[in-house]
Amino acid sequence: MSCTVCRLPFIPSPRSTSERLYPPSIKQQSKYFQSGLAIGYQILGVVAPVDYLDDNLFTLRAFPQMIQWESDGGTFVICHAVCGALLRRTLNAEDDSARSLANLVELERIFGRTQEGRKAGRFPHINYEEVRCGRLLRVDVERLWSRSKTGAAGENDFDWMKLNTSDLAPLWTRPDTFPKFHTAVGPERLKGLKDLPVTNDLITNLPTDVLELLISYMMTPTYVCFTSTCRILRRQALTEWQKVARARVLELGWAVPLPSEYALAKKYNIVMASAEESPLDADWMLYLSHVHRTKSMNVREWIWGICQVIKRTRDELKPTSAMADVEVGGKRMKSAARKELEKQIQQTRSMFAQMAKSRK
Ligand SMILES: [Zn+2]
Repeated sequence: MSCTVCRLPFIPSPRSTSERLYPPSIKQQSKYFQSGLAIGYQILGVVAPVDYLDDNLFTLRAFPQMIQWESDGGTFVICHAVCGALLRRTLNAEDDSARSLANLVELERIFGRTQEGRKAGRFPHINYEEVRCGRLLRVDVERLWSRSKTGAAGENDFDWMKLNTSDLAPLWTRPDTFPKFHTAVGPERLKGLKDLPVTNDLITNLPTDVLELLISYMMTPTYVCFTSTCRILRRQALTEWQKVARARVLELGWAVPLPSEYALAKKYNIVMASAEESPLDADWMLYLSHVHRTKSMNVREWIWGICQVIKRTRDELKPTSAMADVEVGGKRMKSAARKELEKQIQQTRSMFAQMAKSRK
C-alpha cells in the first residue's frame, strides 16, 4: 500500500474495518494519506479517487469497485492525491481526454507493471533516489519497507519508528500547505526605502536594462541575496522587479497551487498565488523567498522532481516500446498497441458513463 510516485505508505481510511496501528506522532497528517488516485484501464473512470481500506485493498470513492492492489505479479498504479495531480501536470495529462488518459496508462506499458513483493508499487527503471528533498541529497524511502512476516500480497511493513527518527522524518508532511501569499507589498516591508540617497557605486548606477540582464543570469538564492545587499536593490525588488520574482515562482512548476487546489482554496476565501488571477505587483518576492523554506514545499518540490524523472525516463524508453508511433508510407501513425490501449480505455470510459447515468 505505497504510492507509486513518492513511495510513502497509505493509511487506512475510516472506511476500513481492520485499522492498522501507526504512531500518534503522524496522526496530524494521516487524513491526507488515507486517499489517493488510481490509474489503470481496468478502473472505472480510468483515473479515479480511491480510499485505502487495509491490507491489500483500495475502494473507489464514487463507485463500489474494490481494487486488489497487489496481484498476478504486480500492483496497480495508485498515488496520493497531490502525487497523482503533479504526475498528471508533468505529463500534460490533466484533462480526461482519451489522449491524456492513454498517456497516463501507457506508463505501465513502457516501464512494465509496477512491481510486487518488497518493491510493491514501484515503477521499474525509475531512479527515485536521485531526487533531492530540501537539503537531503538522496532520499531512500525503500529502506523503510520490508516484506511482512505473513508474506501476504500487499502487506509490506513500513518502519514508522525509523521514519520518525531518521533524516527522512520531514517527508511525512502534507505537500499542499502553501506559504501565505500577500496580494500587495505590506507597508512595513517598504519602511526605510523612501528618499534613498544618491549613490556612486558601479552596480546601482547601471542602466535598469543592464541590471535586469545581469540578474537574469543569477540563480534564485543568489538573486535573493543580491537584492538584500542594499536598500536601492531591495526597493527595486519589492517594486519594479516583482515581475522577476513572479516569473521565478511560476517557472518552478510546483510552487503555486494546481487549478483544483486553487479553486478549493478560493471556495474557502483562502488567498493563494495564481498565475492567472494574482496581481502582478503582489509580494511575489516574499513568496519566492518562502517557497524554498517550508517543509511542505520541500516535499512538494521533491514529488515534482520524481515526476520529472518519470517523464524523462518515459521519453527515453518510449521510442523503443510498443507505444511508440510507427511510420507507414512516410507518415507517423499510432502503433497497434497504442490503438488497442486507447480502445480499452474507451470501453472502460463508456461503461463508467453508463453506470454514472443509471445512478442519477
Ligand atoms: Zn505519494
